[in-house]
Amino acid sequence: MDFGFTPEQEIFRRTVRDFADRVIRPRIPEMEETKEIPRDILDEVAAQGFYGLRYPEEIGGQGGDNVLFAILVEEMARCYMSTAARAMMQCLMGTDFIHRFGTEEQKQEFLIPALKGERYGTMCMTEPSGGTDLGAIETTAMRDGDEYVINGQKTWITAADQCDFFTVAAKTDPGAGFRGVDLFLVEKDRPGVQVGSRIDKLIAVASGCYELFFRNVRVPADHLFGEEEGNGFRLLRGILNDIRVHTAAQGLGVARAAYEEAFEYAQQRVAFGRPIIKHQAIAHKLAKMEVDVAASRLLIYHAAWLMDQKLPHNVEAAVCKYHVTEGGLRIVDDATRILGAYGSSMEMDVQRYFRDMRWLLYGAGTQTVILNIIASELERGRR
Ligand SMILES: Cc1cc2nc3c(=O)[nH]c(=O)nc-3n(C[C@H](O)[C@H](O)[C@H](O)COP(=O)(O)OP(=O)(O)OC[C@H]3O[C@@H](n4cnc5c(N)ncnc54)[C@H](O)[C@@H]3O)c2cc1C
Repeated sequence: MDFGFTPEQEIFRRTVRDFADRVIRPRIPEMEETKEIPRDILDEVAAQGFYGLRYPEEIGGQGGDNVLFAILVEEMARCYMSTAARAMMQCLMGTDFIHRFGTEEQKQEFLIPALKGERYGTMCMTEPSGGTDLGAIETTAMRDGDEYVINGQKTWITAADQCDFFTVAAKTDPGAGFRGVDLFLVEKDRPGVQVGSRIDKLIAVASGCYELFFRNVRVPADHLFGEEEGNGFRLLRGILNDIRVHTAAQGLGVARAAYEEAFEYAQQRVAFGRPIIKHQAIAHKLAKMEVDVAASRLLIYHAAWLMDQKLPHNVEAAVCKYHVTEGGLRIVDDATRILGAYGSSMEMDVQRYFRDMRWLLYGAGTQTVILNIIASELERGRR
């Protein structure tokens, strides 16, 4: 067994951390205030080649594996969740379906420019009636000659305002439950696509979420991913574990940031004549943070390694998402307690970590759904 990162992985981690500290960190107050990620920051992320990290070199990517991608996401989120969430959407959910199932022309037109940050994509699953029960979505895509006609409404769509293309879940057979779901490439400039209201939210405030409407939107038949109808769920399953592991890596980044801030504060803040870290109740909170961070790190990088080795990892991906979320929520809660009243001050970063960690409760599946997945894998004999 070998639990160590390679020298190349350590260098990459330092590169991402230095980039985030230099380019993103000084702009966080501005982004928290305006609730926007300025285009020049996205351009800088693109210029680092991060958008193409997990894609093959032949198409302009970096050919990186899941361990490397988890390092990227963890270090980006340690600095700022909004830019990490936005980058992950661009590198993974927003572009992956074109990479795996798109035509050569679609790759040339959307994927390759996306790796350079010239075009942006996002994924549209959630509807006003719910995000968990995908079999119940109401958006339809009905075949009409050489085209599909899409009608419906999505919500909570990350950066819908700034994106150029969407991967949209829609029913080609409305009566067939989850077997009737398919995935489509839809360009934003098609007639009938309309970005609606922005959702004012607590978490990752600069990565805006929007309503999105499709009214008689016509797309060519080759915009259906997966060649034939009824494949949406199968295609989606191919990416869900990646999303779980890398969302967990975001959580680890935020948890580490909160732990580091609380640790530093506890060394400096004095109460009853000594630094509060010398009071056992505070020291124990920090010790428990170390336990949660250490366990989260092992779970995430083990799951990423399994993915890279092409070994089974359904349980491991769900376990790491569940644990990192619960452990991370404990860490950000205790971090705000250690800072006392300052834990609630908008001048301190810890309040942001407290808010942003809650993203883990919804992204890549809610905790109850993750437990359902673990339980059903156990029932099927996976242990
Ligand atoms: C910051 C942010 C960004 C997002 N970006 C996107 C995006 O870009 N694209 C996109 O498509 N979506 C996006 N979402 C939406 C996200 O994917 C959904 O919030 C998530 O899928 C959960 O759906 P829901 O919120 O509708 O909850 P619901 O599905 O309505 O669930 C409500 C509650 O019921 C529970 N529940 C549901 N089913 C079961 C069950 N079988 N057993 C037990 N409990 C159950 C859930 O765990 C949850 O606690 C984003 C959300 C946030 C907060």
